[in-house]
Amino acid sequence: MQFSITSTIKLNNGVEMPRFGLGVWRTPKGAETQNAVRWALEAGYRHIDTAKLYDNEEDVGLVVANGPVKREEVFITTKVWDTEQGYESTLRSCEDSLKRLRMDYVDLYMIHWPIPGLRGETWRALIKLYERGLCRAIGVSNYTIHHLKELLADTPIVPAVNQVEFNPFLYRKELQMFCRGQGIVVESYAPLSKGRKLDNPALISLAARLHKTPAQVLIRWALQHDLVVIPKSVHQERIQENAAVFDFELTPADMDFLDGLNEDFYTVPPERIAEKWD
Ligand code: NDP
Repeated sequence: MQFSITSTIKLNNGVEMPRFGLGVWRTPKGAETQNAVRWALEAGYRHIDTAKLYDNEEDVGLVVANGPVKREEVFITTKVWDTEQGYESTLRSCEDSLKRLRMDYVDLYMIHWPIPGLRGETWRALIKLYERGLCRAIGVSNYTIHHLKELLADTPIVPAVNQVEFNPFLYRKELQMFCRGQGIVVESYAPLSKGRKLDNPALISLAARLHKTPAQVLIRWALQHDLVVIPKSVHQERIQENAAVFDFELTPADMDFLDGLNEDFYTVPPERIAEKWD
């Protein structure tokens, strides 16, 4: 598969979403977020994933407004947080995010978590925001098959994306197959397992054979599984390293080997594993 740093995947409404981007969860607001986003744009990233929760939308917006590339060349995602779910509050939350981002629209607006009792109203608000042109696409995050079935039974608009924790140590094949069947793109968060599995010996030896780093192998695995992937780092050299994944390819045997590392390893705390949520 031939990918480049600007390769896109077509969403179900025709919008092109870059397959590769920078995540900024736990990237501290202020200089650290501004540096990370600037380094990423300079390294060729054209996709930034933030959220109301991350408390760094202002910094993302500042760099995109003054950065090396035009606003319309960067794909920006943000998300409505749990405490602002509900119809009116979600409308307000998106408008507030846009103000912080200094933008007229985001490329993708998401429900951050499938909060019981609020999902339906919140999704209706996203449809409204989409119709008003405040977001070019709408999606969900941390949705299981159960949550998606509930949504699909009651919506004129299918989510464009489901952003979930996904890497070889948490290989969610069934969820991906379900999403593919519905035309929903799966986006991998924690593609590096938040760094916690980078010392896995099997991963290290595969990476050494390929003359790549474990992080690069994990990112490449995600790309070759047709996932959108958004590794996070606050370090310039790692931001560059994570983007150096377009000059090699994992063989089918390498992919099978990595698939086999699955151990249902979640980095989110047990109480946030949405599989357990009604
Ligand atoms: P990642 O799997 O991207 O891992 C990030 C960690 O790995 C950081 O500790 C980082 O450290 C380290 N790291 C990055 N690059 C390298 C490298 N090349 N070598 C060694 N270590 C490295 O975890 P995230 O949870 O951040 O996931 C990515 C993004 O996904 C988030 O930033 C966010 O945008 C999104 N996300 C969405 C969630 C949701 O609920 N929708 C939940 C969680 C994440 P350092 O920064 O010090 O380099």
